[in-house]
Amino acid sequence: MNKNKYLKVFSDCYLVGGDNGYLIYDLSRQKLLSISQTAYNVLKEIDGKSIDYIISKFGNDIIKIIDYYIAEDVCFLTETPTNFPKISEDIYFENECYSAIIEIGASTNYDYIKVINELNQLGCQMLMLSIKSDSDITPEEILNIFDVTTDSFLTCIDLIVPSSFENIFSMDFLNQNIRICSITYLGSEQLITEENENYVQIKRIKEKELNWTEKIVPTNFTFSMKSFIESKKYNIALNRKICIDEFGFIRNYINHQKHFGNLSDTSTSISQVFRSPEFQKKWKVSNDLIEKCKLCKFRYCCFSNTDLDYSNDKWHKVNFCQYFEPLKENPN
Ligand code: SF4
Repeated sequence: MNKNKYLKVFSDCYLVGGDNGYLIYDLSRQKLLSISQTAYNVLKEIDGKSIDYIISKFGNDIIKIIDYYIAEDVCFLTETPTNFPKISEDIYFENECYSAIIEIGASTNYDYIKVINELNQLGCQMLMLSIKSDSDITPEEILNIFDVTTDSFLTCIDLIVPSSFENIFSMDFLNQNIRICSITYLGSEQLITEENENYVQIKRIKEKELNWTEKIVPTNFTFSMKSFIESKKYNIALNRKICIDEFGFIRNYINHQKHFGNLSDTSTSISQVFRSPEFQKKWKVSNDLIEKCKLCKFRYCCFSNTDLDYSNDKWHKVNFCQYFEPLKENPN
């Protein structure tokens, strides 16, 4: 190994330590690598240093560790380490609103078309439209909803409908409404998930209603560079999200306790609520500010809409995970 070269950890690989272990977040390949505390400390210490310096500090055996992480594409050797600066963690959001949930049920008497138009004005990018099994909405009314999404900022619409609507979405309709990413049929007898010819994910589930209770599971973890950087300063699930339940209540998430007004009150404006500091308060409660989570190695990828409670000057998750309770592990 050329002792004049410098060792650099790839700028899209981040070392994260917690009370429950140590990880490398490999964000380009979207995976996590578990490492020991020793490897974590060594990699932190040797990043950007010359091989000559590293050997003088750690001895010749360090070469084996370096070779291993070079082979794993975690680090590389270079003669010009300053040519590889850290990725900026400045964050800029192009659209005010990232995601929204609209629920329609038997009790719905607010104007959901008007709501979607208001969301369009906020630049909403992701929409979950949930039609409950007890809703008396007609197939024609469902199809008409999509007229107002044609010229919107929406990039993905997830649709949840009772299985009785299974045949209303023709191939032509889906070809014209390319923003529809998935359709979930509630109360289905066939439990199949498939992708149809329009690349729309079709899910059939036996439950007649969605269960909004958050389950914190690894399949919900998210590993993009954008979400990693966002997670340092924001709650990646709640940030720039707005939800309207079937009764017209506006919330940060559909099952949160606190609401911020009801659309049956004609003076309630979605934009006004969305832009209010009170509504945005939980957006900036990152996992680094939440008890237990701040000590967890998954804190920069854990995506959870769970409500947050502030008591005794501390933030807590109302639904805490069962699987990742921080535990001291053997450092080696
Ligand atoms: S809820 Fe908190 S402790 Fe549990 S996995 Fe997520 S960040 Fe870690």
